[in-house]
Amino acid sequence: MSLRTNNPAHLFRHWTQVEDRLRRSKKIVLFLDFDGTLVPIQRNRKAFLQHQSRSVLLRLVKNPRITVVAISGRRRPELRRLMGIRGIHYLGLYGSENGRMPAVAPSVKKALIQAYAAIRNELLKYPGIRMENKVGCFCVHMRECELTVQDRVQESVRALIHPFRRELHLFENLHDIEIVPRTMRGKGVAVRRILDSRSRLHSLPLYFGDDISDEPAFAELHSKLRAGIAVLVGGTRCTHAQFFLQNPKEVIETLSRVEEVLT
Ligand SMILES: [Mg+2]
Repeated sequence: MSLRTNNPAHLFRHWTQVEDRLRRSKKIVLFLDFDGTLVPIQRNRKAFLQHQSRSVLLRLVKNPRITVVAISGRRRPELRRLMGIRGIHYLGLYGSENGRMPAVAPSVKKALIQAYAAIRNELLKYPGIRMENKVGCFCVHMRECELTVQDRVQESVRALIHPFRRELHLFENLHDIEIVPRTMRGKGVAVRRILDSRSRLHSLPLYFGDDISDEPAFAELHSKLRAGIAVLVGGTRCTHAQFFLQNPKEVIETLSRVEEVLT
């Protein structure tokens, strides 16, 4: 998707305005990506919540004005295990996995198997490439490769997936590419579905995310209809978010501030 070429502002510089909106909102829906947002990116993906993050989230889920939604590209059971907080609404696979695995048609299963084999044959020649089979979709991790190699890998994946374009499409992230069934629509659609539910129609949504796959959710929040607060984590870049934070540490600081405002 094309990204808005605006420069987001640091959230803390506009905190008074945010604080005011929080105070005036009866209900708040807080969407949180996990890797790169709540926890720093880990090379081996063995991320875990720091004590401070856990305790602020534990307090937030108890606040009746807030609904906390964790939304990640990871599988839902894994996300749930890593966060381990009751009362959070967990969504895996970019919002597609909510309780149970989304059904995958036989033709799509076949396409996934063939695409996986084609990509593995072509890409495992690059040192540092790692493939992860998530069942129902798969991911090519490129973080360990040099940036020039990452560009080449991206090009190859796009070409290799072309024959399966009816069944599959890509979520292209900063350092990984997810190959998913077309029925998986991504975080923007998941956020829209949640916010369109009757009980949340007048909620103030906040979304924190760090990657390209978070952009459709930023765009959804930034629309006139939602007038939500979208926050890019990890510094600035072209984005649909109107605010940014430098790192997960600042996200936790923000969550503490939100909690203070609402108690
Ligand atoms: Mg992330």
